[in-house]
Amino acid sequence: MSVTVTNLGFPRIGPRRELKQALESYWAGKSDEKTLLESAAALRATNWTKQRAAGIDHIPSNDFSLYDHVLDICAMVGAIPSVYGQVQSKTSVDTYFAMARGSQEYGTVEHPYLSCGHQHGLGVPAMEMTKWFDTNYHYMVPELSSDQSFALTSTKPVDEFKEAQALGIKTRPVLLGPVTFLTLAKSKTEGFDTLKLLSALIPVYVEVLRQLAEAGAEWVQIDEPCLATDLGDGVALALQTAYGRFAEAVPQLRLLLTSYFGAYGDNLDAALSLPVAGIHLDLARAPEQLETVLAKAPKSLTLSLGVIDGRNVWRANLPALLDKLEPVVAQRGADKIFIAPSCSMLHVPIDLDAETTLDPEVKNWMAFAAQKLGELKTLGRALNEGRDSVKAELTESMRAAASRKSSQKIHNPAVAARMAAVTKEMASRKSPFAARQKAQRDRLQLVAYPTTTIGSFPQTPEVRKARAANAKGALGHAEYNDFLRKETEAAVRWQEEIGIDVLVHGEFERNDMVQYFGEQLDGFTFTKNGWVQSYGSRYVRPPIIFGDVTRPKPMTVEWWHYAQSLTKKPMKGMLTGPVTILNWSFVRDDIPRSETCRQIALAIRDEVTDLEKAGAAMIQIDEAALREGLPLRRSEWQHYLDWAVDAFRITASGVDDATQIHTHMCYSEFNDIIAAIGAMDADVISIETSRSKMELLDAFVDYRYPNEIGPGVYDIHSPRVPDVSEMVDLLQKARKHLSPDQIWVNPDCGLKTRKWDEVRPALVNMVAAAEQARAKL
Ligand code: GLN
Ligand code: ZN
Repeated sequence: MSVTVTNLGFPRIGPRRELKQALESYWAGKSDEKTLLESAAALRATNWTKQRAAGIDHIPSNDFSLYDHVLDICAMVGAIPSVYGQVQSKTSVDTYFAMARGSQEYGTVEHPYLSCGHQHGLGVPAMEMTKWFDTNYHYMVPELSSDQSFALTSTKPVDEFKEAQALGIKTRPVLLGPVTFLTLAKSKTEGFDTLKLLSALIPVYVEVLRQLAEAGAEWVQIDEPCLATDLGDGVALALQTAYGRFAEAVPQLRLLLTSYFGAYGDNLDAALSLPVAGIHLDLARAPEQLETVLAKAPKSLTLSLGVIDGRNVWRANLPALLDKLEPVVAQRGADKIFIAPSCSMLHVPIDLDAETTLDPEVKNWMAFAAQKLGELKTLGRALNEGRDSVKAELTESMRAAASRKSSQKIHNPAVAARMAAVTKEMASRKSPFAARQKAQRDRLQLVAYPTTTIGSFPQTPEVRKARAANAKGALGHAEYNDFLRKETEAAVRWQEEIGIDVLVHGEFERNDMVQYFGEQLDGFTFTKNGWVQSYGSRYVRPPIIFGDVTRPKPMTVEWWHYAQSLTKKPMKGMLTGPVTILNWSFVRDDIPRSETCRQIALAIRDEVTDLEKAGAAMIQIDEAALREGLPLRRSEWQHYLDWAVDAFRITASGVDDATQIHTHMCYSEFNDIIAAIGAMDADVISIETSRSKMELLDAFVDYRYPNEIGPGVYDIHSPRVPDVSEMVDLLQKARKHLSPDQIWVNPDCGLKTRKWDEVRPALVNMVAAAEQARAKL
């Protein structure tokens, strides 16, 4: 009897982003469906063989997806909204992609991390997309109506099981569970609870499970990550119904109930009461739940112990893990234990070996998916054959952990001293808002309804080309700099010409709003090939924060200075805030996130005060990802919001009253975090409101938000140029609820993804709209 080494899911994209190439070539009409499907099959085969070679006993199948695994379920159960055509007996690849991407021409795509990063088709629109739990992966939101019917319209899980079987590999199919699927769906019928569709949905799942059993599957992994969240009424009962039915219909299959990204918490009893053969625990996020589970779980239940972190890039300390695992194996029996990653490895880069430029010391602390497979195997062998059988591996792992613990590359005494010296005063501006507002008015002398933009101007093909050439060494530093200065100058001149009141430099020198800062801060590193899927064929390479964060020298002052030298109008300093930098990076796991966040805050605070010293009267600190960091459990929100707001305040509070701090957020929801936004106490906040026709402002109005607000009047996500009158209307609407001296006029977000031909007329109209609205005061 031995412990089983398992995996929950492997990255789909291919070590050289093969899936992206295959998809984009198909979408561009350069290759046919057959070629696409062959490339996909080749990727699956590679992944399976790689895992087999690594010694994984339970290799997942159906973890692959051409676009998204939630969309796969829509395609499997016939949940195809009618705009994409009639439900067919088999969902076609083109229907699938129409749901994913819309079906005609698309607007450019926003920042891949953002919820506002959405495609807007001019023909049939894509389905809505949103973040998968607390990750930066985005899934397509199923759309269901009260009269929804379901039918088996794709046998993908069965097909892929058989495909692996043909290669001589027996896999453990993965299915997104029916209850999580329904709770993630949005209802097309107002007020309808999508869980009511469960009994209609179950037969389709039963059919898939039946076919899997028939094909020879032994275990099936059913993912129900909703169990890591606060569950609404009826969810426990829904789980009972679904899994009771499965146990009845396919008793020969062993089901592994899988939840991750947190503890079962108050859902544990519900989970343990289900008639399944095994249950998976995320012990990277929630190691504390092991004890309770051991006490409560019946001895017959297999426990899948998710000890290797599937959400982060750090190498595990294997001997330390074994200290915890060995007693569990002794207590429960080896045949009832699976060793597993905490969640699917979808969220980590594929192979550390592909990184040739990382500092070897830092690299030695890391493990990507391929290395994590090795760690799982080592744990399995240590448990099955004794620690001596993997002596070398264990020693290496322990050494890496020890080196990381003491390395001077991580632990900077100056940072420790500075952290210890943070005072309450550092998180407070000198005076309350009213006094600051007066000081800023006296200094800035702005008109009512001042116009501004969010920071970036179009990143044209020329800008991208120049950057790429510079990175390759083909364009010298001086030439590149010259080029950027010209772009910046043109943007400044043009803003002056059309009469914008508060200017920006355009961010042409920035590749990405987080990477740009990470590359200049100590404590960060970057990969060359560490791609992680954000959505569809969009992959990102998140920065990796490995050590104490410091700012060796000013990062933006020179660019600001140059831009300001071109104009008498105020030029905003433009920074990314600490919470956003944190939330879009892989973060250290040896200190709390809140501490890293505060270190970043101190570094950016120095940038803020340097900009002030250089003469900046206005500094914008973007916190686009503050909302994204909200924990899955409501009970943990306040704690997060407290330290996140504190970090922002530390960043913003080193300046005088007359220096105006702006922030920008592109969310779709403010109601539940409005108090935190109030507590940030930025002098001016710009938000996304145009698509909601100013409805998002309600939260601010109800809260009686006292500071200044720029409710976006121009939807930058669409190529459409808004006309003057509609923006005047929006401003009039805002005027109803806000005092006129609170209102700024700006677009919803940065303009980097738009074309100049769209931006030019839109901003000209925006300025005209501000003038008209001003005249009505
Ligand atoms: N200043 C950034 C820009 O304009 C802000 C982008 C964002 O918050 N998403 O691009
Ligand atoms: Zn934005």
